Amino acid sequence: MPSLSPGTVITVSDGSSLTVIAYIASGGQGEVYRVRRNPGGREMALKWYTNRAIIDNPDFLKTLRHNCRHKAPSDAFLWPEAVTDRQYGSFGYIMRLRPEGFVDLGKFFCIDRNPQAYFRSWLAKLTACIQICDAFSRLHNNGFSYQDINDGSFLIDPFRGHVLICDNDNIVSDGCSNGVSGKPHYMAPEVAEGNTPDRASDRFSLAIILYRILMIDHPFEGRSTTSDENRCLTPDREMLLFGREAVFCHDTADRSNAPVEGLHDNSILYWRYLTSRLQRAFRIALCRRAIVDPCCRIRASSWKQMMLAERAALVTCHAAPDVPVHDYLCEGAKPDLCPLCGSMTGAEVWLDFGDAMPAYRLTASKPLFLGESFVPEGICRAVNSSGVDSLVLENVSRHTWHIVESGGRRFKVVPGAYCRLVGGASINFGSWRAKIEI
Ligand SMILES: [Zn+2]
Repeated sequence: MPSLSPGTVITVSDGSSLTVIAYIASGGQGEVYRVRRNPGGREMALKWYTNRAIIDNPDFLKTLRHNCRHKAPSDAFLWPEAVTDRQYGSFGYIMRLRPEGFVDLGKFFCIDRNPQAYFRSWLAKLTACIQICDAFSRLHNNGFSYQDINDGSFLIDPFRGHVLICDNDNIVSDGCSNGVSGKPHYMAPEVAEGNTPDRASDRFSLAIILYRILMIDHPFEGRSTTSDENRCLTPDREMLLFGREAVFCHDTADRSNAPVEGLHDNSILYWRYLTSRLQRAFRIALCRRAIVDPCCRIRASSWKQMMLAERAALVTCHAAPDVPVHDYLCEGAKPDLCPLCGSMTGAEVWLDFGDAMPAYRLTASKPLFLGESFVPEGICRAVNSSGVDSLVLENVSRHTWHIVESGGRRFKVVPGAYCRLVGGASINFGSWRAKIEI
């Protein structure tokens, strides 16, 4: 039975008020409602606490008010915007409503029960990774730690990979504690042993989340965790196997927990699709040293740069008109045959941005993203002119591009127009310049 009825008016600490419209859901900490802010009429979400330990904890309310005074580190956070007054025996905070089309990350790991919860492309997976790393990099740089990163912290658009981060009432200034310690299978060993969560423990959980976005399975699940001996785990034993004594299933130094065919097929299958640089990064981030030593964990900002490089090198395959466009991770020159559909792969062109950003591979149907943007600047297309196949780049931005060919000829490409990708020419996109390499 929800605590608040539709029509209930709640006063907010900034002097405004809100009216409850409808109950949405409840969890361990409290309930979520759709509300209308007064004045203005904007519809928002209200989290209303029902957990007595939170309601009676003055530090929790103090931290919540402190976070409200700060701006959200990035748009990905469903950040607390205002705290209500204490009334009806509790309090809460308001945030943006969760938009349509976003799915709980946890559902992506149970696709048999949630058939629509799967990433439609590697680009969507990389986008999710980049947005999560960007958000935590900004959060950490602002002096906060999230403290409880787990598969319930994220809402993701499975088509585009866009991310929203929820439960931001757990966030505290790094080094402080609000009593939240994390979720088993994502919790760093030092936190399981009683230490206060911090940015380093966030990095432990982050590596697990990134692995699961790309691979679905859990990185510490393998032969050892599914052995007869560990079939029925006590909470303490489980905490050790996924914390202090965890062994990465692709650890080259210790194969005791390697993935088992029939049980960890995603870890086996998708690992082959990773580039060697991503495999190397996960082996560093999830090796025994990084598990036990918080200083050895990979920062969110470093992960972000790696994922941006993977996005730049991604190959889009548009081999046959009756096969939907698909993509795959690829290091160096692309193979002659697509590893997914077996078709002959089409042409590729590279844009060399110098030191400004990684060289960007263009293949038919691939969007061009500049820097850390998620809005495409161009779309690469294959054209056949007089029997000759070539690649062109369509300008889908709002800016005019300026091209200089190797012979010195200059011309403009206005929004909606396209240019042939000719080796040696340079493109000025405005803030970014690139040389075309065939
Ligand atoms: Zn293909």
